[in-house]
Amino acid sequence: MQIPLVDLKAQYGTIKPEIDQAIGRVLADTAFISGKYAKIFEEEFAAYAGFKNCIGCGNGTDALELALGALGIGPGDEVLVPALTWVSSAICTLPVGAKPVFVDMLPTLYTMDPSKIEAKITSRTKAIIPVHLYGLPAQMDEIMAIARKHNLRVIEDCAQAHGATYKGRKIGTMGDIACFSFYPGKNLGAYGDAGCLCSNDDQLAVKARKIANYGGLARHEHEFVGRNSRLDGIQAAVLSVKLKYIEQWTQARQRHAAAYTSALRDSGLQLPVVPDASTHVFHLYVIQVDHRDSVQQKMKERGISAEIHYPVALPFIAAYKSLGHQPKDFPVAQSQTARILSLPIYPELTGEMIQYITANLKEVVAGKPGR
Ligand SMILES: *Cc1c(COP(=O)(O)O)cnc(C)c1O
Repeated sequence: MQIPLVDLKAQYGTIKPEIDQAIGRVLADTAFISGKYAKIFEEEFAAYAGFKNCIGCGNGTDALELALGALGIGPGDEVLVPALTWVSSAICTLPVGAKPVFVDMLPTLYTMDPSKIEAKITSRTKAIIPVHLYGLPAQMDEIMAIARKHNLRVIEDCAQAHGATYKGRKIGTMGDIACFSFYPGKNLGAYGDAGCLCSNDDQLAVKARKIANYGGLARHEHEFVGRNSRLDGIQAAVLSVKLKYIEQWTQARQRHAAAYTSALRDSGLQLPVVPDASTHVFHLYVIQVDHRDSVQQKMKERGISAEIHYPVALPFIAAYKSLGHQPKDFPVAQSQTARILSLPIYPELTGEMIQYITANLKEVVAGKPGR
């Protein structure tokens, strides 16, 4: 058996006629940039995600940058970011001239450790970007309490967690602005780059939309120097089709995760932990294992693609070398990057595949030779 980490072809196969028709309509209407289909999707996604406002934009990284801009974060300001996440959560600070300050992780939840936030706050700290990594909500009560105490703004990076909830609340609705990515491999993915930011604060929403549209809402109206980051009609139409299936796809991911957890319960591996108050949407199913690189290689030899999200914690990527971070300052992220392994997960995975993956993983971990 050959099992990829994600299988977008399989998903397209289940919705091909609808997708092809939707794209055809955009072409017939020449509604290529912003326009009718972008507006429809923005309204549908706002309703789904629990917001008054949704602003489509070019990608999830842009959404984070637009959020920082809307909140007035700029040169010299510091933004707290978890040490282990996709690089966008930190590099979004560059265009506005701010600096990321990293916070170490919770060992089994893979979200920012709230107890390590306050030590990182200085007079320049303006915002926190909690990331709902792998699909599990960050510890928002603790994070929001710290934000309120220190008068910090909160941008929730929801790129991996469409539809996840924390204590009954939808992710993104607790902070000031929520940022989503619709990169093809995300739980809700377009067929190209796309993203959005959502907020229940109308003023922030208008400001973000202006920044994304050359500094104004109307054509030839430029109140300030803005930029161009827009949702295109084809991607919006694809997303509107897929949004109808997101709940069913999320439930499939959760079933697959439960099947993994039940099959691997006695394996001695560190499996994903889901606190009672949270729903996990399993963008990724991440385990921790000794001798990770060798396990990954042996799984590959058995036809199973397991990958690493992410091999280097952000304080240690080459781009941030000049910040001079030491491994001892981020012991949890440092240990995680050596041990984490993401098993294949996508809605179209079958019980037979999960059985094959878990049986092989148990053999590999027990040191049994390949078949
Ligand atoms: C994918 C992702 C982003 C950025 O999204 P793009 O659409 O690829 O720019 C930001 N944050 C996290 C945590 C992500 O996984």
